[in-house]
Amino acid sequence: MPIMEPYRIKVVEPIPITTRAHRERALAAAGYNPFNLAAEDVTIDLLSDSGTGALSAEQQSAGLRGDETYAGARSYYRFRDVVSELTGYPHAFPVHQGRAAERILFTALLKPGQLSVSNTHFDTTRANVEILGGKAVDLPCRAAKDLDDDAPFKGDIDLDALEAVLSGPEDVALVLITITNNGGGGQPVSMANIKAAGELARRHGVPFFLDAARFAENAWLVTQREPGYAGRTPREVAREAFDLADGCVASLKKDAIVHMGGLLAVRDPALAEKCELLLIATEGFRTYGGLAGRDLEMLAQGLLEVTEPAYLRARAESTAYLADLAAQAGVDSVRPTGVHAVYLNAGRLLTHLPPGRFPGFALATELYLAGGIRCAELGSLYLGELDEAGELLKPAPYELVRLAIPRRVYTQSHLEYVAETLAGIAKDPGRVPGYRLTHAPKLLRHFNCRLEPAV
Ligand SMILES: *Cc1c(COP(=O)(O)O)cnc(C)c1O
Repeated sequence: MPIMEPYRIKVVEPIPITTRAHRERALAAAGYNPFNLAAEDVTIDLLSDSGTGALSAEQQSAGLRGDETYAGARSYYRFRDVVSELTGYPHAFPVHQGRAAERILFTALLKPGQLSVSNTHFDTTRANVEILGGKAVDLPCRAAKDLDDDAPFKGDIDLDALEAVLSGPEDVALVLITITNNGGGGQPVSMANIKAAGELARRHGVPFFLDAARFAENAWLVTQREPGYAGRTPREVAREAFDLADGCVASLKKDAIVHMGGLLAVRDPALAEKCELLLIATEGFRTYGGLAGRDLEMLAQGLLEVTEPAYLRARAESTAYLADLAAQAGVDSVRPTGVHAVYLNAGRLLTHLPPGRFPGFALATELYLAGGIRCAELGSLYLGELDEAGELLKPAPYELVRLAIPRRVYTQSHLEYVAETLAGIAKDPGRVPGYRLTHAPKLLRHFNCRLEPAV
C-alpha cells in the first residue's frame, strides 16, 4: 500500500529545480557550508524540521482570528485552555521559541555549579545550562550506543547512572527528559522510563521536567512499541507523560506545527511566579510572551492537530519508507527509524574517508551536488575536537547525516527522489571526495565554518 497523506494540498509553492553546474557554483560560493546556501538554490530542504511545517486551513483561519490586544487577548485564553487540556499544567507561558523557555526555567531553577541531568540535552539546552554556570550531564541508555540495535526505546535515560548521580556528592538542580531524544537519533523514551526517572528525581527532592518538543511523536511511538499502550490514543499517552513531570519546556516549532513559538509550563506556583517575572523582563507580558495573537491561535490549533493518529501514522510511515529505500540502496541508518528524521550512517558508506576528512559532511555535500538536497552533518565536523589549524584531534563517535523531514511539506514522490539521489551516490561511494576546513571558528562552528574539497 502506498503511504497516503491524510490531507490534500490547497496552496502550493514551486521548488527550485537547478542544474549540477549551478549547485557546484552555489556551494563553492557558500564555502561548502549548507547554512550559507540561499533557499532558492535548494530543491528539497531536509536541514531541519523546526518551524518548517505546513499550516492547515484551520490554522490559517485561526490566525486571522488572532486577537492582538496587549494584555488578556482572546488568543491567550485559547492558548491557555488548549495547553492546560493537553498537559494539565496550571501555569503556562508562551515564549518566542523553545530556547527562551529553557533560559527562563534554568535561570529560575539552577545555581552556578549545579547539574542538569538528562537523557541527552539538546544543544541550545546545554548552552543555556552552561551559560548559567551549571553542568549539563547526559546519561543515554546503553542500547543507544549501538546504531544497529533495534531496541524500541533507545531514547531512555540510563536509570542506574541517574540514581548514581542523584545519590552522589554533586548538587542536581533538575532532571530533564527530552522526548523524543533528538540528540540520540530521534529515539523515543518509554513511559516506563519517564515514570522511573520521575520517581528517582522525586525521591531525591529534585524537580523533574520534560523537554517536550516532539511530545506527539514520542507518544505515537509509545502506542506502537510499548506493551500496554497499543489501544491508547497519542493524546492520552502524551497527557500521561506530562502528568509524570513537574512541568515542561517545549519548542512549538516542532509538534505544534507552527513557524515560531515555544512553551514553558509548570505546576509549582512559586516557580511560576519567578518564571513570570523573567518572562515579562525578557520576552513579553504573560499573555503573549514574545508572540503575536495570531501565533498563539495557530499553535493552539496545531497542538490539537498534531496528536491525530492518521497524521502521526502517515508521518512515521513516510520516514520509515525513506529509511527502507536507503537501506535497499545499501545505505544504513540509525535503527530503529524514528519519526522526525532519518540518520544515515555515512561512516559505514564512505569507508575510504578517515574521520578527519569528514565523511558525514562529504555525504551531505554530495546529496546537495547530486540532487539539490540540503541536510545536516552530525559527525566529526559538528562534534569532533579540532586543533588550531582545523585538523581533527578526536573524532565524534559516529559519522551521521540527518535527513530531517518537515511536517506535511513533502510527499512520497519527494522522498523517492531523495532516495534515488542517495542510491546514485551509493553505487560508487569511492568517488565522493573528503573535505578540509579552511575556516573553523571556536564557537558554533558548524554554522560559520568554511571548507574545501581535499583532493
Ligand atoms: C528545537 C529544540 C529545542 C530548542 O527550541 P527552539 O524553538 O529551536 O529554540 C530544544 N529542545 C529540543 C529537543 C529541540 O528539538
